Amino acid sequence: MAVPEYRDSNDVFLISDLCLMLEKYLKHDEVTEVYQAYLFGAEAHDGQHRMSGEPYIYHPLAAARILAEMHMDHKSIIAAILHDVIEDTKHAKDEIAKLFGDEVADLVDGVSKLTNIQFESKAEAQAENFRKMMLAMVQDIRVILVKLADRLHNMRTLGALRSDKRRKIARETLEIYAPIAMRLGMNTIRLELEELGFVALYPMRCRILKEAVRKTGGDRKEVVTKIEIKIQERLKQEDIIASVVGREKHLYSIYLKMFSKALSFHDVMDVYAFRILVDSVDMCYRVLGVIHNLYKPVPGRFKDYIAIPKTNGYQSLHTVLFSSKGFSLEVQIRTKDMDKVANAGIAAHWLYKSGKDSSNSAQIRARQWLKSLLEMQQFAGNSMEFLENVKIDLFPDEVYIFTPKGDILELPRGATAVDFAYAVHTDVGNQCVAVKIDRVLMPLRTKLYNGQKIEIITASGANPNPVWLDFVNTVKARTNIRHYLKNLQKEESISLGKRLLDKCLSVYGESVKSLSDENITKVLTQLNYSNMNKIYEEIGLGNQLAFVAARIIIGDDKGKALPVDPQSSEKTKNPLYIKGTENTVVQFARCCRPIPGDSIIAYVSAGRGIVVHAQDCNNAQEFVDKPEKWIDIQWESEVDGNFSVEIKMMVKNQRGILATVAAAVAEKDANIENVDMDERDGLHSAISFLISVKDRKHLANVIRHVRRLKLVYRISRVRR
Ligand code: MN
Repeated sequence: MAVPEYRDSNDVFLISDLCLMLEKYLKHDEVTEVYQAYLFGAEAHDGQHRMSGEPYIYHPLAAARILAEMHMDHKSIIAAILHDVIEDTKHAKDEIAKLFGDEVADLVDGVSKLTNIQFESKAEAQAENFRKMMLAMVQDIRVILVKLADRLHNMRTLGALRSDKRRKIARETLEIYAPIAMRLGMNTIRLELEELGFVALYPMRCRILKEAVRKTGGDRKEVVTKIEIKIQERLKQEDIIASVVGREKHLYSIYLKMFSKALSFHDVMDVYAFRILVDSVDMCYRVLGVIHNLYKPVPGRFKDYIAIPKTNGYQSLHTVLFSSKGFSLEVQIRTKDMDKVANAGIAAHWLYKSGKDSSNSAQIRARQWLKSLLEMQQFAGNSMEFLENVKIDLFPDEVYIFTPKGDILELPRGATAVDFAYAVHTDVGNQCVAVKIDRVLMPLRTKLYNGQKIEIITASGANPNPVWLDFVNTVKARTNIRHYLKNLQKEESISLGKRLLDKCLSVYGESVKSLSDENITKVLTQLNYSNMNKIYEEIGLGNQLAFVAARIIIGDDKGKALPVDPQSSEKTKNPLYIKGTENTVVQFARCCRPIPGDSIIAYVSAGRGIVVHAQDCNNAQEFVDKPEKWIDIQWESEVDGNFSVEIKMMVKNQRGILATVAAAVAEKDANIENVDMDERDGLHSAISFLISVKDRKHLANVIRHVRRLKLVYRISRVRR
């Protein structure tokens, strides 16, 4: 039975027709599997109809046919038949996996994911990102081939749709799918997508161009035939066997030429195009010689894409010639093998290899295709840059993420929500507090994947968290967080240093505010700083001692009398107050973990600022012999923030005990930062919690609440 011409929309293509096509290049049991997929698909789509009124299954069947014409493997064919099943029917991916294997299920799932991403932005850069994202999303290049077949059939049957929908699909086809087909070297499909897209998107321009082309038709045909014969005859004289074909220009490419190069219709049409196919590479160059002898070549227009193939593997010789009649001739010369690649691109790999090792995964095929490009390129001795482009497209190191507005951002693989926030804008990064990924709230450290829609939630007054440095992946995020922390530390150390100096000066009735210019100059010169802020900063960081600066300011005589014992009664009248929010320059010792309400004492640690201990902490006693470093310190009456403290308890071993205790802690609004459990004997365990509380009162509440649990006996705060 003859396969009907597929472009005729009236023909009905049946599964039996498909099986006949497949029998020619697939094994019998593979064809049987395709048939079973058809039965499943037809059942799944039963009762559904296309806009044209025909049963829905006609569409996936037609997509499968397009792939069969490209001699794709049977799994791609099955995936094409089932490509709308996950999306449009009640059947799920695992059902397909059970029936037809994981590979087919992954393919169908991949196509569904591509179908689900929405292309909204019109900017060219966005279209480019979108194309990259589509390629990045697929684990298996066959997903793209199935999707292209799907789209091609939708374009062929676009007529049934409402005009706005038609235009939207046509635009998407011209901006996204045709360029992807081109990138994969699939010219036959690309050309058809372009022509169909052009008619649908610009029906008027298309009609006018078509009419103009028709008018020139008769004359042109005559010219083309004459030239064809002339070339044929000359080749025959040279004993060269070749087929010479005059190529009609496609409407969309005429349109693009007029549009992009601002040419008139006649300028574009004054060019006649021919293709000459031969058997070997040597013959290509011989034909070139003959042609250049027959017509005068236009200088600078000869291109040797055999020696230097295009990025998608296209090979051919191109030349442009003057004819005696004043128009020009574009001639392409290539071998028949090159012609197959020029038409089918990456799919040519299935074309050549079908039958043999069909178990070969598609990704391996794609890599082989790349490898063959590389070999061509190395043979030609040219740079590898061209290959890089293709490789980046097919195996990208980037992820492509949607903003809420539908723009696409490119981020390195492994990027997190915080990286995304900084990529949007530095301020967004600095103030981000939460993220919604595909409308679900997620932690900021969450890694992002291709095609996700990310919405960053910001709060004015929010600040970068040093913890982010552990997981961010972009230079921009890292630099900005570091920069912020450095500035913060600088500000905080200046403010702290100022208060420390003020405290020392106050003993003598002086203050930082009332410093005379003379005194300022004196202290700057003696300590060798450029300005007072620098002195404050160094004092705050613990690199400069406050009382040394104070002594210089007060003057040597009085300074000698300055008490060095910070615990002296006079100094304690004027302690340094801390609020607990001086993050980078005030640290709370991990041994005693002081919290508001505890009596505290602090010392200055070089480079780190102030370290606060509980007054009765053992470690603090070690520093008693360095009195100049001690600072008398007290909590502000209003303290902000949460403070870490450790509690430890003995509990009876019982299932769920940890959860019960944790719930009791949480009920009193204390965050649990860490838990350690240690079984003492079969009956009892010791649990220690690191929790954060506001102050002693808060801690007392928590302890009281936990103590009420029957299974808990002995609970106390831990100090080391
Ligand atoms: Mn479809």
